[in-house]
Amino acid sequence: MLETVVPGVHAWVQPDGTWWVNNAGAIVGGDDVFIVDTCATEARTRRFLAAVDGVAGGRAVRMAVNTHQHGDHTYGNSLLPRATVLFGHERMREALRTDPIIDGCPPFWEPVPDWGDVTRRVPDVAVRDRLTVHAGGTRIELLHPGETAHTTGDLVAWLPVEGVLFAGDLVFSGLTPLVFMGSVGGAMRALDWMAALQPEHLVPGHGPVLHGSEIARAFGQLRRYYEFVLATVQPGRTPLEAASACDLGEFADWADAERIVLNLHRAYAEHDGAEMDLIAALSDAVKWRGGPMRTSV
Ligand SMILES: [Zn+2]
Repeated sequence: MLETVVPGVHAWVQPDGTWWVNNAGAIVGGDDVFIVDTCATEARTRRFLAAVDGVAGGRAVRMAVNTHQHGDHTYGNSLLPRATVLFGHERMREALRTDPIIDGCPPFWEPVPDWGDVTRRVPDVAVRDRLTVHAGGTRIELLHPGETAHTTGDLVAWLPVEGVLFAGDLVFSGLTPLVFMGSVGGAMRALDWMAALQPEHLVPGHGPVLHGSEIARAFGQLRRYYEFVLATVQPGRTPLEAASACDLGEFADWADAERIVLNLHRAYAEHDGAEMDLIAALSDAVKWRGGPMRTSV
């Protein structure tokens, strides 16, 4: 559903927000349409772009940004008009260019997602630290948190005049966050970094849009979750053993709970100063669940 956050600023919020079901957005003003992220599949991206068309009044999508490399936010890029200028962090660009999952999803999820007719389309403009874009009279600041957080190449889209922050997957609202391709500590520090912007409205990468005091409450929950992950690292136990022994407590009701295994794999790697094995981490998450992870994409 395309939800109006403030006049001209829309969030594409896809329930239920679980694996591969992301949020995106559109900023419509003047002669321009600026899009934040696409979707995982051809069908979902076409629905999103049709909804944007419905509020765009004939204006074309002139620019777009990817908040990070993950396929739920980027595989639909190839359905954007060829003339659309696409922005993304330089490391995000490289990661999508070499992403193997768009060619065929490994059987870690059930049912195995079918992306449809999409191809890799990487950003035209690679951003390192920050870039300000003016789209139809709206000032849009594309900002990197300064370190690895959800991934190595995150960008948020910040509208300082409207007070709207498109946070990408630096924020999951009401769902288990995922940092296995990023950093637990970095994701925690990114919360302070975003709080300093003092957003009035926040569009998360997954889950409902947050307004006013809901933002600080969500940041508090995410901080407690990351602290919990770090406290669950136990030398002498593997990430899977530590995940199996822990009590998720206040986070047990969040969807995609198996991410505790993935997040612990990252926390262990950071603790040990070691590389993380993505395939081993995903295999352990499947073991923890007793079967493939659920997706409704
Ligand atoms: Zn995502």
